[in-house]
Amino acid sequence: MAKTVLETKVIIVGAGPAGAATSFFLTKYSIPHIVLEKAVFPRDKVCGDACSGKTALVINRANPDWMDEIYQRSADFTPSWGIIFAAPNGKSIEIPFTQRSAPAAKAPGFTVSRLFFDNFLFEKMASPFCTIFQNASVKTIARHEGRVSVEFEVGSDAFSVTAPLLIGADGDKSITRRLLLPELAEPRTSAVGLRAYYKGVTGFHSENFIELHFLRELLPGYFWIFKLPGGMANVGVGILSADVRKKKINLRARMQEAIENNPAIRQRFADAEMVGKVQGWGLPFADARQPISGDRFLLTGDAACLVDPFSGEGIGNAMYSGMLAAEAIKKSLDAADTSAPFLRIAYDDVFFKRMGQELNISTRLQQLCRYDWLFNLVVNKAHKSEALRNTISGMFCDMDLREQLKKPSFYFRILFNR
Ligand SMILES: Cc1cc2nc3c(=O)[nH]c(=O)nc-3n(C[C@H](O)[C@H](O)[C@H](O)COP(=O)(O)OP(=O)(O)OC[C@H]3O[C@@H](n4cnc5c(N)ncnc54)[C@H](O)[C@@H]3O)c2cc1C
Repeated sequence: MAKTVLETKVIIVGAGPAGAATSFFLTKYSIPHIVLEKAVFPRDKVCGDACSGKTALVINRANPDWMDEIYQRSADFTPSWGIIFAAPNGKSIEIPFTQRSAPAAKAPGFTVSRLFFDNFLFEKMASPFCTIFQNASVKTIARHEGRVSVEFEVGSDAFSVTAPLLIGADGDKSITRRLLLPELAEPRTSAVGLRAYYKGVTGFHSENFIELHFLRELLPGYFWIFKLPGGMANVGVGILSADVRKKKINLRARMQEAIENNPAIRQRFADAEMVGKVQGWGLPFADARQPISGDRFLLTGDAACLVDPFSGEGIGNAMYSGMLAAEAIKKSLDAADTSAPFLRIAYDDVFFKRMGQELNISTRLQQLCRYDWLFNLVVNKAHKSEALRNTISGMFCDMDLREQLKKPSFYFRILFNR
């Protein structure tokens, strides 16, 4: 079979949110790149379908018109103004994402099916600098003489592409991570999640707050209900993989049990019906001490293990890492230096300087969430105290405020009303 030989500046493996964001910013810097994607879009991805302000921030930086489009397309995107935390004792608190000053302000977050959202991003990649191959599954990667090359097939056509740099954006089961960082192939901590779509779920917040129900048997994981457009809801459970293995938990049964028996949940599913089937996938949690690049490659999103260990948010972190990876690539190509030490400074150090504190706090929160009494305590007090609710609300935007959550004194003050 004759092989087509291609040359480019950057090879991106995977066209999910991480790969798409990298491509948007490479296009901004006029850097030619080739995207290799094993699926054919539109394609689904098992997810809770909730996008935070970080996702909006990256899209806005890529092109503010795209965020306007999102706000206008109410049939596809549901704006969300906040979050409901339900404690193991069933009590819940409603926390707006921001303390709104102007009533017309845009919602900080939104929900959208990944089938739709990822295709939305995929279509936005179109540019003179971006060439996309779909149905192109990467199986081997070679690094030699200052270059990186990938062989792939599309149907009966064989290709070889070579570039100075490669981006791994191929998700949780990343082959780029396994081939390029073999000693760290498995994430240090991970979770497993199940997702199902339902129609007819009732009792949503009037401003579409997303809902995390911290059920005792899932801690530090949770059961979620996220309202979607068209009368649909994304319903799921997430739990630490280590707990599933150690306690031999049947996650599907736990999810069903919550829907049928939990007093705070069951009546809302009285007339609900599942659409499609329950599906599962992994969430590789972030670890600020692990490398995310090396000689001639950078990893982004789930391939770099960047899911927030407390909230399970991965889309925003995937897109943010893609944006920073593109900036690092620009610096690397300008300096004609694609070595591991250069990329560590240009990418790893920049990413963890901006995100390390947030991820460390989330790791600590996830560990604290194992204590159901502590969770009950905070929610009980916040239920009664507007000041505490405002503090927690501020924590979504203010990292110094969120830092308080790591300190025992924060809980001491709540306990003794100081
Ligand atoms: C149950 C569950 C619920 C979640 N809920 C949320 C949520 O509500 N909000 C949130 O922000 N995050 C959530 N996440 C996390 C989020 O889904 C991921 O963090 C996010 O999808 C990561 O984006 P990515 O681009 O890195 O990877 P992906 O979205 O997985 O994209 C990777 C792409 O690479 C392609 N690919 C894979 N292998 C190859 C190969 N060998 N060759 C070529 N292409 C390849 C795939 O086809 C895919 O298109 C959830 C995850 C799970 C499992």
